[in-house]
Amino acid sequence: MTFTQKEIDEINQNDLIDRFEQDLTPIELHFLHYEDNELNTCNKCNIIKNTWNTDEFKWDCDHDLKGHTALCSDCYFELGCKSFYEIEEEVKIMTITVGDYVKTTKEYNSLCFISGEVIEDYGNKVIIIDDCAETDDDRLEFHKSDLEIVVEEVE
Ligand SMILES: [Zn+2]
Repeated sequence: MTFTQKEIDEINQNDLIDRFEQDLTPIELHFLHYEDNELNTCNKCNIIKNTWNTDEFKWDCDHDLKGHTALCSDCYFELGCKSFYEIEEEVKIMTITVGDYVKTTKEYNSLCFISGEVIEDYGNKVIIIDDCAETDDDRLEFHKSDLEIVVEEVE
């Protein structure tokens, strides 16, 4: 089926958002697949979303989508997907514990790292003894997400 440019120009891409690919008219389908637009469809349910709306549409470059390339937020939650950032956080929460030697991450403070041994573990937070504390109060509380384990060099 062919359409005139005038017909195609009358399509507003926002009218297609939140509809399913199978519910589109032939010209809307043509617009979705062959015309310049910012639309994408969920790999699982085929709902149409704006490519750049990251609240509504998740890509596999930032998230573990369990084999899909792009998902709408509904399917994302239904499948229990997580962002790579969240996964990294969970790994940290599981791995950092009492007795570990840690330092603050570059994201936390790139100019002045704080390091020390973990003495208390509160789940997502820990208390560390600051190596270089200049006062008697050398106990510091950190979110585990702001810390990384210092791996000792084996000589
Ligand atoms: Zn979906």
